[in-house]
Amino acid sequence: MEDVVLEGGCLCGAVRYRIDGPVRNPCFCHCASCRRATGAPMVPWGTCAREALQLVRGRLSEFRSSAEVSRGFCARCGTSLTYRHAARAGEIDVTLSTLDDPTLLPPRMHVWVADRLPWMLIGDDLPQHPASGTPAG
Ligand SMILES: [Zn+2]
Ligand SMILES: [Zn+2]
Repeated sequence: MEDVVLEGGCLCGAVRYRIDGPVRNPCFCHCASCRRATGAPMVPWGTCAREALQLVRGRLSEFRSSAEVSRGFCARCGTSLTYRHAARAGEIDVTLSTLDDPTLLPPRMHVWVADRLPWMLIGDDLPQHPASGTPAG
C-alpha cells in the first residue's frame, strides 16, 4: 500500500479526507482511551505523514484526551478520524475503518492488548503487543 491515494470521511459526510502518501503500521488498538473515544472495543489505526493527510471537505474538531494526545473528529456526527501524539509531531494516525475502502489496509498487529476486553476475542494470528508496538507509542 504505497502508491494509492486513499480517501475517506465521517458518517455524515461533513468531513472528507485524502491520504496522499504511504500509510504504515496498520494496527488494532485495544486501549481504554480509544474505546472511550469511539465507543468500539478496538480501533484500527494507520500512520501517515502529517502533510500526507489532506482535508478535502470540512474541518476536524480536536479533543485533547491527554497532555500529549489530540483526537480529531467530526463535530457534526462525532466520527473519530485522527490521533496526534506530541512525541510523533510529523505524523498523524487515521481510523482505517473510515476509509471509503477499508479493505485496502488490513491491520497487521494488535497493540495495547493488555487493555483488551475479555469478550473482545482475537481470532487472527497477527502479532500482539501488550502496549504500543512502536517506541513512540
Ligand atoms: Zn460527520
Ligand atoms: Zn488506543
